[in-house]
Amino acid sequence: MKRIIGIKKKIALIAHDNKKDELVEWIKLNIEPLKEHQLFGTGTTSKLIKDETGLEVFAYKSGPLGGDLQIGAAISEEKIDFMIFFWDPLTAQPHDPDVKALLRIAVLYDIPVAMNYSTADFLLSSHYMKTEYNKKQ
Ligand code: PGA
Repeated sequence: MKRIIGIKKKIALIAHDNKKDELVEWIKLNIEPLKEHQLFGTGTTSKLIKDETGLEVFAYKSGPLGGDLQIGAAISEEKIDFMIFFWDPLTAQPHDPDVKALLRIAVLYDIPVAMNYSTADFLLSSHYMKTEYNKKQ
């Protein structure tokens, strides 16, 4: 298992429908630091980010159609090493098992994960965003 997260992070951006506006707002406020990294996302979230911010985002499939599982697989292959995932705590999702699988893989591979706005702020302001990071696991 690769233990180094490089200077240029490979960041997955995902938001459930009720959280998409919040994620886009956060991205707009943080667009300059995010430009330093490589961005990925589930289908609908990626398209919205591209349309609203002009950032380049590699799109996997839409979450309910397997996108969360694709991102989980990418984490296991070290193609993604950082995740901002604004999931909706108030609405049942048809693909809840996929969401759970993605979160399990993210923990297993010890990647930084933000699941709400304030954690995303804390993560992005970490000095590790500008350096390599050696994972302990
Ligand atoms: P979406 O998927 O970006 O395609 O809406 C997000 C999700 O539900 O995991």
